[in-house]
Amino acid sequence: MSNKTPQLVTFGCRLNTYESEVMRTHAQEAGIEDAIIFNTCAVTKEAERQARQAIRKARRENPAAKIIVTGCASQIDPQTYAQMPEIDQIIGNDLKLKAETWGVRHNDRVLVNDIMSVKETASHLIEGFEDRSRAFLQVQNGCDHRCTFCIIPYGRGNSRSVPIGVIAEQVRTLVGQGCNEIVFTGVDVTSYGPDLPGSPTFGQMIRRVLALVPELKRLRLSSLDPVEIDEDLWCLIAEEPRLMPHLHLSVQSGNDLILKRMKRRHLRQDIIDLCSKARNLRPNIEFGADIITGFPTETEEMFQNTLDIVEKCDLTYLHVFPYSEREGTPAAKMPPVDPAVRKERAKRLRDLGDKQLQKLLKRHVNKTVDIIVEKENFGRSESFVPVIVEQDLQAGQLARVELTAINGDKLVGAPA
Ligand code: SF4
Repeated sequence: MSNKTPQLVTFGCRLNTYESEVMRTHAQEAGIEDAIIFNTCAVTKEAERQARQAIRKARRENPAAKIIVTGCASQIDPQTYAQMPEIDQIIGNDLKLKAETWGVRHNDRVLVNDIMSVKETASHLIEGFEDRSRAFLQVQNGCDHRCTFCIIPYGRGNSRSVPIGVIAEQVRTLVGQGCNEIVFTGVDVTSYGPDLPGSPTFGQMIRRVLALVPELKRLRLSSLDPVEIDEDLWCLIAEEPRLMPHLHLSVQSGNDLILKRMKRRHLRQDIIDLCSKARNLRPNIEFGADIITGFPTETEEMFQNTLDIVEKCDLTYLHVFPYSEREGTPAAKMPPVDPAVRKERAKRLRDLGDKQLQKLLKRHVNKTVDIIVEKENFGRSESFVPVIVEQDLQAGQLARVELTAINGDKLVGAPA
């Protein structure tokens, strides 16, 4: 197989999706052909296993292709990937974003620098997004927290923010390309700003960018730390129609002792207070949540607290992760919960998530909403409600629809 443009295989988070677009641009500008670039994830053992499996398969099917591996897994443990004969080059998370990394021939097979020494986010302008409906935009990278289960800071380094001017320029470019919705993403976006002149908060940055780019129609935020929402962001949640009424919260557990053992900054009551405050300010707001099941020492009773907080706060779009030991993290040394129990609890939580989604769908029937079309006749409303439209529309198009009925895990929308 001879492929003119480099192929990107992306694992993991929205930040990786954004960075894959950056690498695609750099590799194309460098004239790299016949290459397959794997942008790996290290959040769970399973994510790493899938990447290694995909790399071996790619080599079998493309004996002549240049296979390049990057991302958190190869940043954290480059030696494991260096031992794979299928791989031609390993590039670290910082160097992967630099044009010069792709522009010159390197003798070294492993190009990985100390991610903890990286102080700035590399600024680069992407022309567009493969996925026309929604563009993910990096506004922050790295993390200064050290949650006991998490390996991410060792793959991404310490927190650093993209200057407001660079973000505004990138938003303007994407909007100019016809993008109607942008998602601000990062590793810990609410820690935006202290490394920039004047230490702007996350909310102040958003307010500034929305003022600088009045043409931007819809702004969505990626995962938020529940106790790091600043005053400006609360005002925007209450007043700014272009900020989507949908918050994805990094909840992780509904039990205070487990949250303490995770070294999270919030407790159960903080989630409850946040959701009720947000609903008072913006009644049509909906919530998603990241939750881990089977964290070391979690009992059935503690897990019940997690199930309970999902119902109490009416959380809907659940991202459920059975706990996965990550070597080098403190939690990996704690008394483990049986892996089968972790999975069983994840199943129960996902089942609850399905019930929560049905409740959400029921309360949206007969409402009229604006959706952004993702593909063919599928789109999502401002509060992220999944909608099937009875006519084919263009990906990325905004459409007003009346929600007429429930069809499985989606609503049916007729043009309003
Ligand atoms: S906030 Fe915690 S879970 Fe999130 S990236 Fe940082 S260390 Fe990991």
